[in-house]
Amino acid sequence: MEEQKLYHKIDFNTNITYIKGVGPRRSLVLKKNGIETVGDLLYHFPRKYLDRTTVKKIKHLRIGDSAVVVGRIESFGVKPAKRRRFFEVVISDDTGSLSCVWFNSISWVSDKFSIGDPIAVFGKVEFYNGKKITHPDFDLLDDDEPINTGKIIPLYPSTSELKSVGLDSRGLRKIILTIFNSLNNVLLDFYNERFIKENGLKSHHIALNEIHNPNTNKSLVSAIYRLKFDEHFFMQLLMALKKQHASNRIGVEYKDKGPYVSAIYKNLNFSLTNAQIKVLKEIRSDLSSNKPMNRLIQGDVGSGKTIVAILAASIVIGKGYQVAIMAPTEILTEQHYNSFLEYCAKVNIKCSMLLGNQSKKVKDNIYEQLASGDIQLIVGTHSLIQKNVNFNKLGMIVIDEQHRFGVEHRKKLIDKGLSPEILAMTATPIPRTLAFTIHGDMDISIIDELPKNRTPIITKVVNKESLEKVFEFMKKEMDEGKQCFIVFPLIEESEKMDLKAIEGGFEKLQNKIFKNYKLSYIHGRMNKEDRDIQMQLLIDNKVNCLVATTVIEVGINIPNATVMMIENAERFGLTQLHQLRGRVGRGKDQGYCILVQRNSSKEAFHRLKIMEQTSNGFEISDEDLKLRGPGEFFGTKQHGFVRSRLANFVEDGPIIRHARNIAFQIVSSDPRLETEPNKGIKTEFKNNYKEMLEFVSIS
Ligand code: ADP
Ligand code: MG
Repeated sequence: MEEQKLYHKIDFNTNITYIKGVGPRRSLVLKKNGIETVGDLLYHFPRKYLDRTTVKKIKHLRIGDSAVVVGRIESFGVKPAKRRRFFEVVISDDTGSLSCVWFNSISWVSDKFSIGDPIAVFGKVEFYNGKKITHPDFDLLDDDEPINTGKIIPLYPSTSELKSVGLDSRGLRKIILTIFNSLNNVLLDFYNERFIKENGLKSHHIALNEIHNPNTNKSLVSAIYRLKFDEHFFMQLLMALKKQHASNRIGVEYKDKGPYVSAIYKNLNFSLTNAQIKVLKEIRSDLSSNKPMNRLIQGDVGSGKTIVAILAASIVIGKGYQVAIMAPTEILTEQHYNSFLEYCAKVNIKCSMLLGNQSKKVKDNIYEQLASGDIQLIVGTHSLIQKNVNFNKLGMIVIDEQHRFGVEHRKKLIDKGLSPEILAMTATPIPRTLAFTIHGDMDISIIDELPKNRTPIITKVVNKESLEKVFEFMKKEMDEGKQCFIVFPLIEESEKMDLKAIEGGFEKLQNKIFKNYKLSYIHGRMNKEDRDIQMQLLIDNKVNCLVATTVIEVGINIPNATVMMIENAERFGLTQLHQLRGRVGRGKDQGYCILVQRNSSKEAFHRLKIMEQTSNGFEISDEDLKLRGPGEFFGTKQHGFVRSRLANFVEDGPIIRHARNIAFQIVSSDPRLETEPNKGIKTEFKNNYKEMLEFVSIS
């Protein structure tokens, strides 16, 4: 009975098995690909479109063109060849023929074709005994394919498995058409009519129909706008709700600077930059209001964020509250501890440090003094969020490299205080469009100026032929008493291999190339004691050079270090290279960054060249975003939170701003999304962002 009913009444939640044309075999494969319901399938968007105006005649193809060709299959089969066999499909249109070849995936392509079948192929045209495309992307078309009528045909992401049950683009198009024909009602929209009209959007139903079955280019573009808008809108809504939630709290008002600020200021042997002063003003204004601060400082490496945090902390401590500083790694934690100690101990602020591997006795002692309020300022790793850590009066938390922490980590630390002020810091400059999404719930301050005494670091991209010269140069620097870094990549998937490579690399460097110099060596897998010993050697200038994996990335400050050489630089993101580069040139001497490119890719070379051209972290991060996508910028913990299918953070600037404005307007007039027009939005939000609900108050 139930099944019968469902069969006739299709909606978003209908299981895909009830759709005509989807049998048990197909539904199993679909399920494996994450498609279980009608809704899942309707959100399985085309990866591109075949538009008649972009199709080229074979006669007109030029070598090097990225072309779309539509033709019929003339012949196909496995061809023997001197080196290795390949699979060839010859297609022809009314102007000529084109050979398509595959070398690797012979077994799965070979049973896809029949002579005479219409087909569309996509790829780069080469010349070898005629025009040829290697490993083209292809889609089989229907005989009655409306390509000749000017229709735009959607092409879906597909796998060999999907194709094996007939669910190539053609198969998927048929099923989606069936769905739209048998939908009982128009799909309900989560926005009301007025919202749709005011924002110039297509309705949900029309947008989904259009993206799968476009009428014109123009209507397709506006369908995509609507669906992208949805993605950005709900992300921004989350930001707006989080911000709202945070500002519901009542915090302490720090009306005056207290006794410490001037005392610390007097001890500085430099004067603050204008950018630092501007940010401090913003912080002071946050602190003096009764809403707790929720601010992120973005500032390039070396821009002097630490002293800003110290001064902010000292205001809070001056009123009798405690401050906790959380950093992502032990090395960074220790360094912060030393900086804070340097400025705070002089003015009698009691500082301490909490690390995961301290003895129970030491930890217990710290817990006690935190609970009693004796410790005024604590620097620590994740260990700060453990249950045993309780504060007497936690007034402010500082989170360094905040994107490295998950939302829940921050929340746990925040919960240890009573509406503490929150100051987050990041040296990873994030493109604005992304910052809206990643840090959109915070106020953002930017330190966009480096202290005056800095000379820009000289950067050079080299290949292995120049290594000898590079080593000679490093020796010269070391002879003058300066220190160097050599960094090897360590990428998780191939960690074992990489470790071997760096160990081998270290031995060669120490025993052959730099045999008259002292080198130390650290990597992330080393235990802390050993790493500390090696680091201390570097800090005390007992070694000339540190060989390391990227564990040194965010931390260390060695003013005497002048050369940063990075091996296999092509394996790093630009933002990461920029961070590493920021480890040198921190003192009075000229700094150098040498990027060793080990592959011969032109693209990699151009990418690395950007490092020679700019030292502006924002420009670099923009390039990274364009070249590598947004993955780099989301901490692993935050990954799942951007459910984007269409969202593109490089191109969607205007949509993001539109969605952000609307989302913030809605939350400011209806903070709990309780009014009638916002009910649909609330339901959709709750369905899509279940895991985030605990951070906002709309339940
Ligand atoms: P980051 O923003 O990378 O955390 P730091 O706070 O570690 O930078 O500052 C880098 C170095 O610059 C430190 O040695 C710090 O003492 C110094 N510094 C900070 N502000 C100034 C300034 N206004 N003028 C000169 N040196 C400064
Ligand atoms: Mg710092």
